[in-house]
Amino acid sequence: MTHLHSGRLEVVCGPMFSGKSEELIRRLTRAKIARQRVRIFKPQLDDRYDATDIVSHAGVRMPATPVASSADIARLAAGHDAIGIDEVQFFDEGVVEVAVHLADNGVRVVCAGLDTDFRRLPFGPLPLLLARAESVTKLQAVCHSCGGEAVYTQRLVNGRPAPFSGETVQIGALDAYEARCRQCYQPGHAGDVAALRLA
Ligand code: ADP
Ligand code: MG
Ligand code: ZN
Repeated sequence: MTHLHSGRLEVVCGPMFSGKSEELIRRLTRAKIARQRVRIFKPQLDDRYDATDIVSHAGVRMPATPVASSADIARLAAGHDAIGIDEVQFFDEGVVEVAVHLADNGVRVVCAGLDTDFRRLPFGPLPLLLARAESVTKLQAVCHSCGGEAVYTQRLVNGRPAPFSGETVQIGALDAYEARCRQCYQPGHAGDVAALRLA
């Protein structure tokens, strides 16, 4: 009876270290306590910590299913009351229609991911999900430089701001990421910024 009324799309976004995975785990753990059938998906490329679990930077973890595309989510979500999608920015744009379709059909869909990349540009399908969701939570991290409220992800290569022309996705590369506030965020080379504006 209530099943068809529980469908909804929730998005949890923010920079790296802002607690997105923790919040996703918190929401779906509560759904499990309510005896709902729960499943978390994550992109197959993300194997930084663990091939199957999702793990937060603080070590909180929950089992997850790595999938190659949004079509896999559509196929494997059947029979669940609530699903989570972590690192949703790495999925193809089809993930938007998959999420909306599942929500329309009574599934609670919680998506977590980066709203902007290290250039501060909207990241993959996430902006489209924000537009379609009934609930959006934007989290802040602690700025690694000043301790303020961080809203951006700073990418560093050898301790210096990464050039904007670099690849957006470089999992496992020898670079580092920090959460930074607006004042402490440092853009890549000035020439790259100009090139981006012209593009
Ligand atoms: P996200 O998925 O957004 O990258 P996680 O949920 O994996 O974030 O990790 C959040 C946790 O990371 C926090 O609870 C905290 O323990 C830890 N942490 C480490 N560095 C920071 C930081 N700069 N700001 C906030 N939390 C941080
Ligand atoms: Mg995370
Ligand atoms: Zn700062």
